Amino acid sequence: MTDGHHIVVLGGGYAGLTAAARIAEAHSAALVTLVDRKSSFVERIRLHEIAAGSEPRDLGYSTFMQSRGGSFVQGNVSAIDLSQQHLAIDGQSSLDWSTLIYALGSYTDVNSIDGVDEHAVTLDDVSACRQLYQQLEVAPPKTKILIVGGGLTAIEAACEFAERLPELDITIALGTGFASSDEPGGLSNLAVEYLNSVFERLGVRVLVGRRVLSLTRGAAIFSDGTKETFDVCLWAAGFSVPDLARQSGLTVSKSGQISTGVTLASVSHPNVLAVGDAAEVVVDHGGKCRTSCATGRPMGELASKTVLGRLASVSLDPFQFSYAFRCVSLGREDGLIQFVDEKDCPVEEIWTGPRGARWKEYICQRTLQGIGFEVDIGAPPDTPPVRP
Ligand SMILES: Cc1cc2nc3c(=O)[nH]c(=O)nc-3n(C[C@H](O)[C@H](O)[C@H](O)COP(=O)(O)OP(=O)(O)OC[C@H]3O[C@@H](n4cnc5c(N)ncnc54)[C@H](O)[C@@H]3O)c2cc1C
Repeated sequence: MTDGHHIVVLGGGYAGLTAAARIAEAHSAALVTLVDRKSSFVERIRLHEIAAGSEPRDLGYSTFMQSRGGSFVQGNVSAIDLSQQHLAIDGQSSLDWSTLIYALGSYTDVNSIDGVDEHAVTLDDVSACRQLYQQLEVAPPKTKILIVGGGLTAIEAACEFAERLPELDITIALGTGFASSDEPGGLSNLAVEYLNSVFERLGVRVLVGRRVLSLTRGAAIFSDGTKETFDVCLWAAGFSVPDLARQSGLTVSKSGQISTGVTLASVSHPNVLAVGDAAEVVVDHGGKCRTSCATGRPMGELASKTVLGRLASVSLDPFQFSYAFRCVSLGREDGLIQFVDEKDCPVEEIWTGPRGARWKEYICQRTLQGIGFEVDIGAPPDTPPVRP
């Protein structure tokens, strides 16, 4: 694999763009092309901020890739031919590839519960978030917003709306409640206590212990037969991955994520690597990586090393990742840093308040800088969060 080798990266999210940038910056003999349906990078971890009135930065892909010696093609990847090593974009036969990095991410699951697709909005793209803000900005006081989801996206959205659009009547339906404190992705008892105090301070009503069974126009029907009316329902309960990997014939997990080995190569097609939310990778401690930008970026780094290592015929490193903390914004002035063990299970220590908010903001900025965007992030706010 040397001259004429074409590396195509599908999806310019946190994982794919990191991989594309690192490979292009290495100036190997290979060509690098990034493909995305959008023209610019979206800071997906800030979409709830856009839905509450912030404007996104302009982070165009073309300039970013060209300045590194790579190129960008805008379009929707519609088919992958694994035997011919060819791609269709927008239904047209389009690009040949030698190595493919699949990084098409995930999106909110709106199909598992009846009525969600039709009656709820999601935080899936900038235009949907802007539209939601335009609607909420002029909504009469006490407009009822129902946010469904017990994960971090729902919590962040509820706090952001409550702080910046305080006239709204906000309810969060947590389902069975916050994930338990002894499982990966869970919150410690202290963190749950803190979150409940923040909801109370911000006037967010919390529904817990019942799941939404279906949505109809203006109402959610719960598992205990009760009903909750809304003017706007924001659905943030669970993610799905694009079905393209399965349709193409790549080996995927139950959830549709591409099954990968330790160097992030597909177990069925080694010339395809998978990174980010679209990949299922099992790390040293035996657990699967949680879908997050926190894991997507290091996966992008490792995929670039795998590809460049193969080109240079050097030995390849395995993906190694260890969790340290999870950070949650609770509006602009408050935040929660939940420290975790290496399996992502919460430990008791948390940081909260303005300190939590400052660290969350710093980490969002540092993520952008880590991909390669020029952002002035200044010095870290204070002692960095390290696992106790
Ligand atoms: C509101 C919100 C807050 C979040 N906060 C956090 C947080 O604080 N910390 C954290 O770790 N995670 C957070 N997440 C999760 C995080 O955003 C995702 O895990 C992360 O974006 C996954 O990165 P990725 O590169 O795999 O995919 P994505 O960022 O989803 O990027 C996928 C890319 O693929 C492109 N694409 C998809 N399909 C096609 C196609 N067919 N053709 C062409 N292009 C396509 C998309 O346009 C997109 O650019 C949050 C998510 C949301 C919604």
